[in-house]
Amino acid sequence: MTRTQPEASFDVAVVGAGIVGLAHAWVAARRGHRVVLFDRSPQAHGASIRNFGMVWPIGQTLGVCMEIALRSRELWLEFAEQSRAWVNPCGSIHLAHREDELPVLEEFCSLAKGDGLPVRMLSKQEVLDLSPAANPSGLLGGMHSDLELCVNPREVIAGMPEFLIEKCGVETHFNTLITQVGSGQLTASDGRSWQADRIFVCSGSDFQTLFPRVFLGSGLRKCKLQMMRTKPQASGWRIGPHLASGLTLRHYQSFTACPSLEALKQRVANETPELDRFGIHVMASQNNAGEVILGDSHEYDDQLTPFDKSQIEALMLRELAKIIKLPDWEIAERWHGVYAKHPHALIFYAEPADGVHVTVGPGGAGMTMSFGLADQAWRDIEEV
Ligand SMILES: Cc1cc2nc3c(=O)[nH]c(=O)nc-3n(C[C@H](O)[C@H](O)[C@H](O)COP(=O)(O)OP(=O)(O)OC[C@H]3O[C@@H](n4cnc5c(N)ncnc54)[C@H](O)[C@@H]3O)c2cc1C
Repeated sequence: MTRTQPEASFDVAVVGAGIVGLAHAWVAARRGHRVVLFDRSPQAHGASIRNFGMVWPIGQTLGVCMEIALRSRELWLEFAEQSRAWVNPCGSIHLAHREDELPVLEEFCSLAKGDGLPVRMLSKQEVLDLSPAANPSGLLGGMHSDLELCVNPREVIAGMPEFLIEKCGVETHFNTLITQVGSGQLTASDGRSWQADRIFVCSGSDFQTLFPRVFLGSGLRKCKLQMMRTKPQASGWRIGPHLASGLTLRHYQSFTACPSLEALKQRVANETPELDRFGIHVMASQNNAGEVILGDSHEYDDQLTPFDKSQIEALMLRELAKIIKLPDWEIAERWHGVYAKHPHALIFYAEPADGVHVTVGPGGAGMTMSFGLADQAWRDIEEV
């Protein structure tokens, strides 16, 4: 790589100010390192600003993944305390509106309780007492978890760099596209360069700019999700905990341990193949502005187009109306997001040069896992 006179020297440089990059920058600064953070945009506009804001440990398989998720949760709460960011420990309810959803929830609940997690089955009335948004029609019960948090991604992604600057002494460079990274040095498209002992490349679903050859053989996939949000609900109306449907049981790894899951999957595949076709399961969260965030769908690789499908939106709204009731369904905004996902690993990791760590692709769990994964990465680096 071309060597130019560096602007400055740091212990750690992080490329990408999405949640993965922010997490790595924060954890490095907490460990006393001098950190510089880069993003090519004026503000990170990738997957991290487009999500539900669900910190969702309940989707992680019990054991190591759950432990990382719980560590992440701890760090989110610490971040909230230090930064005054809005982090709502709202918990979650998986709603059961079909007979075959209850046994999956019961099986999972008993496994999770065995691991000491704060989960419990709820009767129909208990669900309705906790959430005015649960649709009572056909409701059979649900599973409550205390673990989930709600954050506002738009506020966190905009605000966390300020927090890093003010409270952790991190230097940031937005509007700065990094085009070359090698051991100890990185260079921007305008020719400026910086030195850093360690460099984390947290470039999200951009597989083209840095280390394209590393990504070629990685098995990483791109996934596109369609999302919506309502106007703020009137008079301070709140949904209570995050809400997930029985369809969600098909989506998260945690439920693969449940013997009854296969029958549920078969039923959905037979009854509503259009949901499998677009990877639709439905969930709702509510931010501090009172807006309800609704989604989502999953289209992969070659299926990705720049255009959103009205068919997907109609299917999501159809399924959402079966499980929740909102005072105001008026959709104020629609968008899609793309994340990178590895088929097996929690996050894809490569070290293409000495001290250069490519760290991308936490899939649909980046808000949930990034703080814990960054914490783990730094332990691995410094405590071996
Ligand atoms: C619609 C949607 C809903 C989701 N819901 C949830 C949820 O509720 N809970 C959850 O846990 N997860 C959720 N996820 C997943 C989560 O959002 C992602 O896993 C996470 O945001 C990925 O973060 P990232 O930092 O890797 O990527 P990004 O947020 O895309 O950030 C990458 C950043 O790198 C920058 N960059 C790239 N290359 C360069 C370069 N060469 N130079 C400078 N800058 C560069 C980009 O500008 C970008 O800002 C959702 C994802 C989507 C899309």
